[in-house]
Formats: sequence, C-alpha cells, structure tokens
Amino acid sequence: MKEKVFRDPIHNYIHVKEPIIAQLIDSKEFQRLRRIKQVPTTSYTFHGAEHNRFSHCLGVYDIARRVTEIFEQQYADKWNPEESLITMVAGLLHDIGHGAYSHTFELLFETDHEAYTQEIITNPETEVNAILRQVSPDFPEKVASVIDHTYANKQVVQLISSQIDCDRMDYLLRDSYYTGTSYGQFDLTRILRVIQPVENGIAFAKNGMHAVEDYLIGRYQMYMQVYFHPASRAMEVLLQNLLKRAKFLYQNHPQYFQQTSPNLIPFFEKNPSLANYLALDDGVMNTYFQSWITSEDSILKDLASRFINRKLLTSISFDEENASQLNDMIKLVRQTGFDPDYYTGIHINLDLPYDVYKPKSNKPRTQIDIAEKDGSKEELSALSPLVASLSGNIHGDRRFYFPKEMLQTDDLFTQDKVNFQKFISNGHLTSTP
Ligand code: ZN
Repeated sequence: MKEKVFRDPIHNYIHVKEPIIAQLIDSKEFQRLRRIKQVPTTSYTFHGAEHNRFSHCLGVYDIARRVTEIFEQQYADKWNPEESLITMVAGLLHDIGHGAYSHTFELLFETDHEAYTQEIITNPETEVNAILRQVSPDFPEKVASVIDHTYANKQVVQLISSQIDCDRMDYLLRDSYYTGTSYGQFDLTRILRVIQPVENGIAFAKNGMHAVEDYLIGRYQMYMQVYFHPASRAMEVLLQNLLKRAKFLYQNHPQYFQQTSPNLIPFFEKNPSLANYLALDDGVMNTYFQSWITSEDSILKDLASRFINRKLLTSISFDEENASQLNDMIKLVRQTGFDPDYYTGIHINLDLPYDVYKPKSNKPRTQIDIAEKDGSKEELSALSPLVASLSGNIHGDRRFYFPKEMLQTDDLFTQDKVNFQKFISNGHLTSTP
C-alpha cells in the first residue's frame, strides 16, 4: 500500500502505512467519530474546542505508531515486533464506543461507552470487526482485551492505558491546543526519546524525568483549569436535567417523541441495539434539542432553550461541612418557582493526578517508573518532589447549581433571603461567567 498521510495540527503528518489501519479509518463506525465532539461541554467555555473524537483517535494511533517504531528499532531484545500492529489498532479504536455527550448521556440512560467499544470491535455485524478478522479470527478479541486491560502483554496495555499512555498524551496536547490554553503542553518529542519497554511494562530513562514531570503537572492543570471549569459543568447539569425531563415526559407522551426525536425512543424504552446507539451523534441530539424548544411542556421547552442558547445555571462550591445547607437552597429554589428536580444539580469533579501502585486499592494504578542506566527502576515520586506533592492527593470541587435568576429576585425572600445572602457573603458564591 502507498503510504497515506493525514494533516494534523498536533502531530503534523499522521502516517498510515498498514492497509488494516487505513481500512479501519474508512469504516463507518470510525467515520461516525467525526460527528462526536471530544469535549462537548468544554466547547461552551473555550469556544475553540470544537475538535472531534476522530482527530483524537488518529492522534493516539500516531503516538502508538511512533513508540512502537522506536521500540522495534532500539529495543529489539525487549519488544516483540508482532505486538506493534495490535498496539496501533488498540490506540486507534480505544474510544470507538464514545457517543454523543457521552458522560451525561450514560448517567441518564445507563449506557457505557467502554462496553460499546468492546461490542463494536467484537460484534460480527460491524465493519470494524470484519476488517479486524482479516488479520486473524481471534484478532478482534485480542484488541478488545488490550482495551479492557486483560491482554497478556502488559507493555501493550500500558501504552494504551496507564498514568502516562498514548491516549492521555494526545488528548492533553490536543485539548490544550484547541482550547487555546497552554496548561496541557509538554515535551512529547523528549518523552518519545526516553520511553522504553521493560519486563512487564514501560519505563522512562532518568534523563527524561523532567519531561514526564512536566506532563503530569500539565495534566493536573488541565483538569483544574479546563476540564473542571464551572461553566462547562453548568452545561452538563442543564443537559442532564433536559434529558431527565424528556425521559419523564416520554411515559405519558410517547407520540410527541416519535415525531420530534425518534432515535431516542430505544433509550427511553431501555432496549437500545448497537445500531440504535450508532445512529446517535451530536448533530442528531442537537436537532432534537432544537425541536423541543417549541414543546408545550414549559420545563422541556425552557431547558432546551437554555441549553441551545447557553443560558447557564450558576453555582456555589460546597464541602462536607456546609452540604447540609443545600437543603435550604433547594427550598429557596422551589419558593422562587423553579422545580428543583430540573433546575438544580450537584456536580462533583474530583481527580487524583497521580498515585503509586497500591495493590490493595480497588483500582490499583500502574505507577510511572524511572529506569537507571544499570537497569534498576525507581518510582517517579520517590525522585521528584514535584510529583510527590501531587501523588495520592485528590483535587477538585463539589458545586451546587441553581438558576441565575435567583440572584436577581430580591423581593422574593424575607427571612430566607438572609440565609441566602449569608451564603453569598461567606464567599461561597462563584458566579459563572
Ligand atoms: Zn481517548
């Protein structure tokens, strides 16, 4: 096959030499990813972030391709070249099961993008599966096992999913670029020079330790400044409440949804097929939201309009100590005339930026190891005071969302207004931009 290239703002040229990779990119399940935004609600805060899953998946593939090429050329004693294709394919397909507004959608309809990723790869009805079977009959299952971490070769598994993997390296650089922020930038070229296969995993040469450190700090800052931004989360809460209202109304008005939003019916009915799942994308969903703006139901109509027109809920942060006051807040929301079921939301975003391997935790992490010249290994936070300060510590916040209008209705409160104002003057209130 003649080499194909894809022009990419992060990696410049993405090179495709293997016919299997080219065919997978052309499959309809992979092309669908063009219609799924990478960070759907973040794009309402950082307007440049309109990029899609398609470009991210290509990017993960390209990092996997570069790493395996280096491993083949420089570490022939520790890397089996037969593992290169599966690493590239798993990188390309790792997010193939993502759907429109994945995280919010999953919460409401109990779907799971990881389970769909497995299904798209292993179900004989998909184009992806037919292409993978050309390699060998058991290749689809093998690829699926890399993605669910059960594949025997841990070097491959760690390249696709660990605390420093091809997935994270691509999305940090990509989201940083498209949001127009600089937090997620790090020296990928340097990391690719120091990454190496070791027995049962991967490690990084000591002279590249600061590049790895920089990657972890970049990741931490992207979570705090970009992914956890209160305005993006306000859009998630709105979306969640909008879908919740639609789900509720469907019970008594199925014909309305037949007319305006037929592709959602299998999800309301809790029996979606794979084909139903693949028929949804951001465009389909946004068209439905647009059509709900003319609904006769005042709540559905209002929430759809708020979502489409970016009329955000506002929020206050809270912690365990003042969580009990939320009940008072909910009472106030109701008194103001808003149904708290659809006009409030609790949104908790917490992240553990880095942790060492803890075999007893329920999700043990693969730690980042630094390789010395003599072949011995040391865990990263033991060498880096910066990483040690992040290691094992959870960061993030809990926010309570409510209608912005409440901040403007002075005359609606008598006694209760005092509490509310106290809440604000205590410094808990952060009005979203
Ligand atoms: Zn990904």
